[in-house]
Amino acid sequence: MEFDILYFAPGLPSHGEKARAAFDDGALVVNGRRIDIPLTEIGVTLGGFNHDQVFLFWHQEEGRHAISPANAAARTQLAASAPAPLSALLRGATKDATRKQRRSRLGLGALGFILALPLLLVGVLIWQSHAIAGWAAGHISIENEQKLGELAFKQATAGMKLRDGGLDAAAIQEIGASLTKGSKYDYKWHVAENPAVNAFAVPGGYVVVNTGLIRAADSAEEVAGVLAHEVQHIEQRHTLKNIVHSLGLRAALALALGDIGGGMLGDMAAQLSELKYSRDLESESDRLGLLALKQAGIAPQGMVSFFDKLGKLEGAAPPALLSTHPASQDRMQALQAMIDQAGAWPAKPLPYDWNVVKAAAQ
Ligand SMILES: [Zn+2]
Repeated sequence: MEFDILYFAPGLPSHGEKARAAFDDGALVVNGRRIDIPLTEIGVTLGGFNHDQVFLFWHQEEGRHAISPANAAARTQLAASAPAPLSALLRGATKDATRKQRRSRLGLGALGFILALPLLLVGVLIWQSHAIAGWAAGHISIENEQKLGELAFKQATAGMKLRDGGLDAAAIQEIGASLTKGSKYDYKWHVAENPAVNAFAVPGGYVVVNTGLIRAADSAEEVAGVLAHEVQHIEQRHTLKNIVHSLGLRAALALALGDIGGGMLGDMAAQLSELKYSRDLESESDRLGLLALKQAGIAPQGMVSFFDKLGKLEGAAPPALLSTHPASQDRMQALQAMIDQAGAWPAKPLPYDWNVVKAAAQ
């Protein structure tokens, strides 16, 4: 019974040569030629890439010779036709080979999994990035947030003329305090002497309102609307969510786990001012800002009328606040719909003579 083999011998290609083999009358026959070696001197070993290929080998004068069944059928035929001294060796080797094959298949599976893991993770990250950002942002300690906020505040206000005193600053502080009752943040309200119509919030409870914005408003309710919105960027940790998105999970984990160096914190703070909030976050601030107005007993219409008014301002230089808070039709309609849905709530006019406050905002 002949079977296909690969034949390895001195002078043959190192990957073996196709040949036929058989056993005949107690001798191995390769390509019809009897190998003049007693079967007891033929060894059995495992080789090949995964160490699961069976080889018969022997030594002749010119060197080592070996044959290996070329396929599964040949392997079966070899096992069936090998005479007694070899068959026992073959059985042992075949058992080993099967075990090794199983192990290598497992190994390949594990390798494939390890190779696919980063891809899988990236997929999950993209898929779940909002949830992960929310989770990571939610696990950043107030302490780290405040450290970051302090640095960011210093960088954002470098060169600005800030005031805590004055009639206008007092009004901002009072209105702001009524909108942040019960907050876990210790808010610090500042007026910046700057004609640009702008206001911004920094993580940890820093709010800056330009004198230009105070002068552009026609009532305390309009300013309250802007403050209510800005405060929600802090309360909902929108900046931290942005950091997670743009600076990556490493930064977020560092912040969440508290393992953070001054250099890294500084880098983050420097990038904060360049981060814009997404439309989703802006609309969340609108919605929760309205809720804060309701809880403070402040009429909501000022929020709509102020942004609406800014949107209608003509000129070459649109107000700075509009660049980050476009008074688009969509946004104004959504705001109005939220107000309508909430229904009227009891509101007392804020006790300021706004013209007097405006006069102080120089
Ligand atoms: Zn905003």
